[in-house]
Amino acid sequence: MSADLTELYQQVILDHNRRPRNRGKLPTANRVAHGDNPSCGDQCSVYLRLDGDRIAEITFDGSGCAISQASASLMTTQLKGKTTADAQKLYDEFHTIVTTGQAPEEISDLGAFAGVHAFPARIKCATLGWHAALNAIKGDPADATTETHKD
Ligand code: ZN
Repeated sequence: MSADLTELYQQVILDHNRRPRNRGKLPTANRVAHGDNPSCGDQCSVYLRLDGDRIAEITFDGSGCAISQASASLMTTQLKGKTTADAQKLYDEFHTIVTTGQAPEEISDLGAFAGVHAFPARIKCATLGWHAALNAIKGDPADATTETHKD
């Protein structure tokens, strides 16, 4: 990855960290799940309103490292308005990016997290919000911890 692209992608993460999108509880949520990443101390709750199979609204709330919070913020912007099938597809794409460092050909915000693959301990930080969102969609808020999630 070129130095310019690395810098651009760092800006995406910094920006989401500084100005988190869709942050806070969602009063109209009909699905909620909580994610916990004890190895880093990250917490993330995801609130969403599922309308049929479409994610009508989605917010997150939490605390933790910059990667976990920026990733959760980006996740909400990616999943809002999508179908649950699209959400799974986007997560699969994101998971490939953070585990292999293979960013998509075209510049996408998801690619901003490609650098995470060099730091395996941080992959859980990057996927925390996504796991919580997928667990919320499945309506299984009981266990959204990444510790027990099979990667
Ligand atoms: Zn973290």
